[in-house]
This record gives sequence, C-alpha cells and structure tokens, in this order.
Amino acid sequence: MTKPSPHQPLARKYRPQTFDQLVGQDTTARALANAIQMGRTPQAVIFSGVRGVGKTTTARLYAKALNCEAGPTPSPCGKCESCRAITSGNHEDVLEIDGASNTSVDDIRLLRDSIGYVPQRSPYKVYLIDEVHMLSQSAFNALLKTLEEPPAHVVFLFATTELQKIPQTILSRCQVFLLQKMTAKTVTSRLEEILRLEGLQHEPGSLRPIAREARGSMRDALTLLDQAIAVGNGKLTTALCESITAQAPHELVTALLCALVAKDPKQVMATVERIEQTGTDLVTVVEDVAQLTRHAFVIRDLGRNAMDLAQLDLDSNEIQELEGIAKSAAPFDLNRIFRMLVRCRQDMDGSPLDRWILENNSLEWCLDPGLPDLQQYRSALNATASGTPATASSALASPPTTAAPAVVVAQAITPAAAPAPKPLVQTPAASAAPTFPGTWAELVAMWRQHRPLQAGKLEDAHLHSFSPELISLTVQETSFARCLLNKDEQVKLQQGFSDLFGFKGRIAIEKADSGASVSPAPESLAQKSDRETRAKQADLRQAAVNHQTTRDLLEIFGGKVEDVRIKNVD
Ligand SMILES: [Zn+2]
Repeated sequence: MTKPSPHQPLARKYRPQTFDQLVGQDTTARALANAIQMGRTPQAVIFSGVRGVGKTTTARLYAKALNCEAGPTPSPCGKCESCRAITSGNHEDVLEIDGASNTSVDDIRLLRDSIGYVPQRSPYKVYLIDEVHMLSQSAFNALLKTLEEPPAHVVFLFATTELQKIPQTILSRCQVFLLQKMTAKTVTSRLEEILRLEGLQHEPGSLRPIAREARGSMRDALTLLDQAIAVGNGKLTTALCESITAQAPHELVTALLCALVAKDPKQVMATVERIEQTGTDLVTVVEDVAQLTRHAFVIRDLGRNAMDLAQLDLDSNEIQELEGIAKSAAPFDLNRIFRMLVRCRQDMDGSPLDRWILENNSLEWCLDPGLPDLQQYRSALNATASGTPATASSALASPPTTAAPAVVVAQAITPAAAPAPKPLVQTPAASAAPTFPGTWAELVAMWRQHRPLQAGKLEDAHLHSFSPELISLTVQETSFARCLLNKDEQVKLQQGFSDLFGFKGRIAIEKADSGASVSPAPESLAQKSDRETRAKQADLRQAAVNHQTTRDLLEIFGGKVEDVRIKNVD
C-alpha cells in the first residue's frame, strides 16, 4: 500500500496506475489495453508528445501491465512485488535509460550485451529509453541491430518529444503512439477531481489559470497546484492561482478586449495600468488577448456553428461572455484587433518599453475611424451612374486612414448592346395581316425573335436601301455576315421576310467593295450600336469621375482614378 505522505507531490501521488486512469490519452490507453488482452503486445513502442503529457508514465504502465504477477493484464494490480518495484523505479528487469546522457554507441553496446540475459524475476525485460531522439547516429545503428530481431523476452519503450529526429529505420520497426496535448478543460477537470480526493475546497474558476499556464502538461499543472495549495494554505482562490502563474487575470484580459472593441482610449489606458500593476509579463498578456480576440472573431463573423466551440478550450461561462463581446463588435473589427495585437506582440521585446508599445498600438486602434461603409459607397456610385443626385456624403463622415484604392469601380446601368425590340412579333400563324416595319433596325429586332443567329448577321450588313419594294445590303467578305451572299440563304430570307412582314419586294445582297465604288458603306446596325454604347460609357465614365463622391474619395485617400469599370446591369 502506498503510504500517504503530506509532502508527496501530487504528480507522483496521482500518477495513473491503470490504463483507465490515463487522463486525456484515451486512444493510446485503449490500443495498449487491447493489445495486451489479445496477446499481441508490441516489442518496440515509441511514445511521442510534448513534455509532461504522460509519455514515461504510459511506458511504465505498459511495463507494469506486462510484468504484473497477475499479468500480462490491461489492469495491473499495482500491489504485487513487481508492480510496486516498477512504481518505485527499482525493478531489476525494467531499466530506465536517459537518452540525453547515454547517447554514445558504447552505452547502447552495453545495453545490447545485457539483452542476451533472461529477465531475473519477470516475464519481460523492459528497456525504457527517455528522450530517445538524443541518441547519436552510431547509437541508433547499434540499436537497430537489436530491434531487427529482438529476443522474445525483450521490450523496447522509447519516449520522445521530437519524433521527427528519429531515423526512419527505427520508426519503421516500432509502433508509434502520439500522446495528445491536454486541453485546459481536461486538465481542469482532473485538478478538480484531485482536489476532491484531497478534501480541499476551491473557488469556481480558480483552476483555469493553472490549467492554461500548464499548456497541455498535466505534470506542470499538478506542480502548480502543489504550489497553490502550499501558498494558500489549502484555500484556493482565483486571485491566488493567478498570482502563482505568469498569467494575467482573465478578468483583465477580457477587460482589455472589451476596451478595444468599444474603442475606448480611457478604458484601454486604465486596463493597461491595472495589468501593469499585477506585474504580469505583458507579452503573455498580449498573447492571451490575441487568442481571446481570435475566438471572438470566429464567433462574431463565422457564427456559432462555424466551428466546434469545445475546441476553443473555454468553459461555458467564458463562451457566453465572449459571445457578448463578439456581438458588440463591428464586422471584421475583431480580425483587425487581432492583427493589431500580433503586430504589437512582434514589436515587444521584454523591455520596459513593452508597456508603451501595447498602449500605443491600442490607442492607435481606438483612434482609427474604421473602414468606411462599402455598401453606402456602392449606392452612392449607383446613384451617380443613374443620374440621381448624390446622397452619399454621409458615407464619408469618418475619413478612413487605410491605403488609397487605385481603382474606382462604377456599377452603372447601360442599355444592352442591341436596341430592345419594342413591337409585338407577328408570327406567320397570326391571323392579322403582317405589317412591314418602319425601319431596318425594327425589322432586324423583330427578326431576332424568329432567327436570332441570322439577325446577328443582318446587324453586320450595311444597309443601302430600305423600302417595301427593295432591301439592298452589302456585306464585307471577311465579316460574320458573309454567308448572306449565299443564294440559298437569300431565298430563305426572302421567304421568311414574306411570311413575317408580308414583304413582296426584292432583297439585294452584294459583296462590299466589289466594284470601284468609293463611297464608304453606311454604318451597320452592329457598328451603330457599338458607337452608341461607347459614347454612353464615356459619358458614364465622365460622370463617375466628376461625381462629388469620387472627388471626396480622392481627396481623402490622396489617390487618382486609374480606371472606371462599367458593368452592364440589365
Ligand atoms: Zn501487479
């Protein structure tokens, strides 16, 4: 039985004794328990993960499971001679080697030579090499020979924080377990459980600073908890736990974010002053505020469902509080605050200037008028294009300080390239007598309803004469309309015009420039339409450039109009 000692560190006292007790490492625990149950125990295992995450604890547990007098068993008894010897670190057949100080090839050769001897009292001889990535290349080579064909009674357990430094040849002979970094939530609930077992009270929320400070390491968390219990004489308050960590009080971190969201310079200064008084490292504070801002940004601009809020490593009160802050922020402000804090963090160097760097960056943000409302700009420009008087000066109420935009994009309403057909189309089936259109353009527009492709060709033709008796056209040989020169095409056209418009006259289509004629061909409908569109666009461009909103923008941004793009909006 383990003797309860008042000075025994919590990390040792509550070291997991069974796979079930491995906190936050469910996958690894289950895999190892299953392997033992099925009698398929791996002979070479790597446990990889950040410090304090339980690599050697898990390795020892596995050694115990293999060598327990009741075993091999997934639930070692913890009471037999073998289990107790492993717990206290003096089992003859479980050898712990520190890879950091036994890195030479000779050390590994010695180890290799000892492998031949059978275990003294347990079924397995276990070699636990910690920090295995520290071994030299020749030591790895020596080890490799053993790993290729280990005797049945030998088990190698390696622990490492740097898996990438282990040669592939070694990796390929081992079963690798990646131990998870523990979330603050997992750590907190384990700490709560331990305090309950210790019969100690704690203020709600007081363990969060410890869990955060531990950054995924249960061992660090338990060491801090030991300290807090000692300092507080068994009474755990939030203030006490904050005081033993390098963390800024959560309340102050939140207060700073609130002040930044509200763009309240006075509040910013007051909060920075209070943070300074706690003596917390300001770099850590900025990191904490940045982290909180990022969480708020996700909630504010991507929505609650954009991600699993459990991943944010916050408790439900904190999430609620954060949602409140997020709601009060302007769109994308949180992202901009985050970026400001990251820049601020880069500028800080641990000198006394840090305080002023934080304050200055924060105040600069508070005095930043923010991005102009782009929606308002857009309506203003639309108003310009449609000729309505501008009402957009309100959009410029707060001058932005961001870089000058080089392009003014005007979204304008222009007529479609071709004039829209106004008259009703009369189909041959219609009983009313077909009427001949008044103009060539009207005829083509009506024809478009009937034969759109051919109407396109007619638009490219040059009209010389238009009457119920004669329609005379010329077409460029290089033009899209050249197939109108084809006699069959002309017969079809004649028939169609007769059916649709009751046209009984003659259609004459000739090649342009065929004769010595010097008179330039009259403008085709397509050319006319192009010319008109260009003229309208030039007018719109001019209107956009001359518009008051544009001129205000140029004055504020100090830029120039490089381009005006006009979109057709039907
Ligand atoms: Zn046992």
